[in-house]
Amino acid sequence: MHSTADLAPGFVNGRVSHWVRGEGRPVQRPGLPGPIEADVAIVGGGLTGLWTAYYLKQTKPELDIAIIEREFAGFGASGRNGGWMSAKAPGQFRRYARAAGRDAARAMEREMFAAVREGVAVAQREGFGEHVVRDGMIQVATNSAQLARLRAQIAALPEHGWGPDDFEVLSPTELDRRVRVADARGGYWTPHCARINPAEFTFGLAAAVERLGVRIYEGTTATQIEPRLVRTNRGTVRAEHVVQALEGYTCSLAGQARRYLPMNSSMVVTERLSDAQMDEIGWHGAELMGDVAHSFAYIQHTADNRIAIGGRGIPYNFANGFDRQGRTADFAVGQLGARLVELFPSLAGVRLESSWSGVLGVPRDWCAGVGYDRATGLAYAGGYVGHGVTATNVAGRTLRDLILGERSELTRMPWVGRTSRNWEPEPLRWIAARSLYAVYRFADRQEYRSDAPRTHLAARLADLISGR
Ligand SMILES: Cc1cc2nc3c(=O)[nH]c(=O)nc-3n(C[C@H](O)[C@H](O)[C@H](O)COP(=O)(O)OP(=O)(O)OC[C@H]3O[C@@H](n4cnc5c(N)ncnc54)[C@H](O)[C@@H]3O)c2cc1C
Repeated sequence: MHSTADLAPGFVNGRVSHWVRGEGRPVQRPGLPGPIEADVAIVGGGLTGLWTAYYLKQTKPELDIAIIEREFAGFGASGRNGGWMSAKAPGQFRRYARAAGRDAARAMEREMFAAVREGVAVAQREGFGEHVVRDGMIQVATNSAQLARLRAQIAALPEHGWGPDDFEVLSPTELDRRVRVADARGGYWTPHCARINPAEFTFGLAAAVERLGVRIYEGTTATQIEPRLVRTNRGTVRAEHVVQALEGYTCSLAGQARRYLPMNSSMVVTERLSDAQMDEIGWHGAELMGDVAHSFAYIQHTADNRIAIGGRGIPYNFANGFDRQGRTADFAVGQLGARLVELFPSLAGVRLESSWSGVLGVPRDWCAGVGYDRATGLAYAGGYVGHGVTATNVAGRTLRDLILGERSELTRMPWVGRTSRNWEPEPLRWIAARSLYAVYRFADRQEYRSDAPRTHLAARLADLISGR
C-alpha cells in the first residue's frame, strides 16, 4: 500500500505552472519600443495591474494606460495560484480593526464577499468565465487541535460581520456529503468563494484589458520607479500616475529588498481522476477546500477532474532567492503528495503530473496595503499574503478611485495608506523564516500525535514572535 502519490512518467517540475502550460503559453506581446508617454503606467502584469487597468478604463475610457511586464501577463503568482477566488481578507481583522475601527474592518470583509461575485460576473461578461464556478469553500479540521482552532474561527465570524447566510457549520457527517476527508472532525462551508483556472482567468482578463485599449508591453523589465517615471531596460515611460503592482517581485527593485518577504508556495496536480476515484472521495462539486494545519494545505477539484493541492514546501530562500520558472524541491513534492493521500487515502498511488512554485508578498505585519500619493503620482498595492486572487480586484477598484480622486467606500477601507515596517536584514530574515516554518511543521506533527484539543505551545509562540 502506498502512503503517498507517485510521479507520472514525464512528470514536469516548474515551467511556470500546470495552468499556464494547459492554456498554452501565450505568444509574448511586443516589448516597449523605446521611450513613451502615458497617462498611467502600471508595472506588473498580474491581477493587481490588470484589474487596475480594467477599472480605470471602464470608468475613463480616454485614459492612455501602459502596462510594463517583465515576462508575460500571468507569469507571476496570478498564473500559478490555487484558484481560490475566496473572500479571505488579505490580513488580520484585529489589525485592520485596531487601525481603522471595527466597522471599517467589517466593511472590508463584506467588500471581499462582493468582490467574489464581481470577479465571477466580469469573467462571464468578458468571455473567460467558462470554468469559473462559485460553489464556495470548505475548511476542514482533521485533529482535535485543528477543530479547536476552527471553532474559534467560526465563533469570531459574526464579530467580523459574517451573517447566518455567510457560513454553515458542518458536522463530520455533513462534511462527508460534500467531500470525504479521512479523520474529518468537522468544518464549515461558505458560499463566498469561486474556483478559477488561474491562467485562463488572468489571460482572459489581459485580453479584456487590451480590448479596452490598454497597451501591454511584455519582455520589458522595470529597473526603477520614480515620481511620474518608470525606467526599464528598453526605455522610459513618463506618466502622470505610476502604479507598482509587483507583489512577491517587489524585492527586485532598488531600495525595496526588505519591503515584502517573497514567500514561496508550492503546488502539485494529479493526473485526471476516474469517476470511480472521484466517487470514492465523494467530491462532485467545485468547492475549494483547505485544512487548518499551521502549514495549511489548499486544494482544488479542477474542471477536468484532477486534484491540485498546494502549501508547505520551502517557504523562503536566502536573500530573496527563488526559481523564476517555479522548480520545486523534491521534498516539497513528496510532502504535498503525502498530504494528498493522508486526506484521501483511496488516492494512494495516484500519479502526480506536475509541480510548480510561485512567490507571494508578505509584509512584516502580514497585512496588505493599497496607496496613492498625489504629490508624486506613485501608487501601490500588494502584500496579500497568499490571499490575493479576490483582494487584487478590490485593490484595482480602490486604486481607480484613489487615482481619479474619488472618495468612496473603497478609499475608506482600513488597508488604504497602510504600510508596514521593513523585514529584518539577512541573515536574520532567512533564519527567522526557516525556523518559523520548522516550528509550525513540528507543531503540526505534535498535534496529530497527541490529538490534544489545543494549539501546540510551539505554534502559539511562533505566532507571537512572527506577528502572524
Ligand atoms: C502557488 C501559489 C498559490 C496561491 N494560491 C492562492 C489562492 O488560491 N487564492 C488566493 O487568493 N491567492 C493565492 N495566491 C496568491 C495570489 O496568487 C497573489 O496574491 C496574486 O496573484 C498577486 O497578484 P499580483 O498581480 O499582485 O502579483 P503577480 O501575479 O505576481 O504579478 C506580478 C508581475 O510582475 C512581473 N514583474 C516582476 N518583476 C518585474 C519588473 N521588474 N518589471 C516588470 N514586471 C515585473 C512578474 O512577471 C509578474 O507577472 C497564491 C500564490 C502562489 C504563489
